[in-house]
Amino acid sequence: MNADRPVDNAPYQSLAHGGLTIEGWSRAAVQSYWRIPELKVGFDLGAQPWDFMGTPTWFVSHTHLDHVAALPVYVARRRMMKMDPPTIYVPAESFDDVKKLMVIMHRLDRGRQLAELKSVQAGDEIELSREQVVSVFDTVHTIPSRGFVVWERRNKLKDEFVGLPGEKIRDLKLSGVAITREVRIPLVAYTGDTAPAGLDKNPACFEAKILITELSFIRASHRRDKIHKFGHMHLDDFIERAAQFKNELIVAAHFSTRYHPNEVRKLLDVKLPAELKAKMKLWV
Ligand SMILES: [Zn+2]
Ligand SMILES: [Zn+2]
Repeated sequence: MNADRPVDNAPYQSLAHGGLTIEGWSRAAVQSYWRIPELKVGFDLGAQPWDFMGTPTWFVSHTHLDHVAALPVYVARRRMMKMDPPTIYVPAESFDDVKKLMVIMHRLDRGRQLAELKSVQAGDEIELSREQVVSVFDTVHTIPSRGFVVWERRNKLKDEFVGLPGEKIRDLKLSGVAITREVRIPLVAYTGDTAPAGLDKNPACFEAKILITELSFIRASHRRDKIHKFGHMHLDDFIERAAQFKNELIVAAHFSTRYHPNEVRKLLDVKLPAELKAKMKLWV
C-alpha cells in the first residue's frame, strides 16, 4: 500500500520519459489500465485507481473484462465527485452493448451513468487539442479491438520558404499563401491485447517515442501459433522484430499470471538483445 495516496484501491507504477508520465498496471486476465496525465488521456478501464479519476478521456482497446470492468465504476465516481461527464471511446462493434451495460448499471445502482460514449473504427482521428491528435488502428485479437496513437502536430515552414527574410514570409502569409505544412510526431502508441500482426500492420507502433504494448507469454514451451491465435504476443515475437523497434521506450506489460515477476525479469534479461533490452521497461 502507498501511504501517500488517500484511497489506495488499485496498484500502479509510474515512469517519466521525455516530458510524459506513464502510469498504469496490467496483468493478463486480471486488469489493465494506463494513463498519461500530461495528455489527459487514459487507455483501458480494467480497474480504476482512485487517483486516475481526474483523467477525463479514455480509450478502451476492447471489451474483455480485464480491460473494461471498471467503466461504470469510473463513470459513477466522476458523477459522485461532481466532475464533468467523461468521454470514453470504445470499438464501434461494442458500442451498443456498452451503452446497454451503462443503462443496466444505472438501474442496478440507481445512479445515472453520465458519459459521452463514442465509437471508434480504424482510420478515425480524434482531436485532443490543437497540438495533439489521436489516430485509431485495428489490432488482432479474439474480439474487435483497437489500438491508438497520440501524435503531436506542429506547423513547420515549408522547405521552399526556409531562409527567406521575416517580412517576405509575413507578406506571403498575408497574401494567402500556405507557408506551413503540418508535421506529426508519434508520441505514444498503445496496442492493448494483440497478436504481432497488430504491430506489423501499423508502422507507427515501431516509430512512436513510447510504445505501450503487451507481452503475455515468455516461456519457450508455450506454442506461438496458439498464442497468436488467441491474439497475444510471445517474447520471441519481440526478439524477431528487435531491429524494427525505433521507439525510445517500450513498456511491455500484460504478462500472464502464470509467471512470477522474477521469472519475467530473469528470462528477459537473458534472452533480449542488448539494444532492445536497453529501451524496454518490464511492467511486472
Ligand atoms: Zn487482456
Ligand atoms: Zn483481451
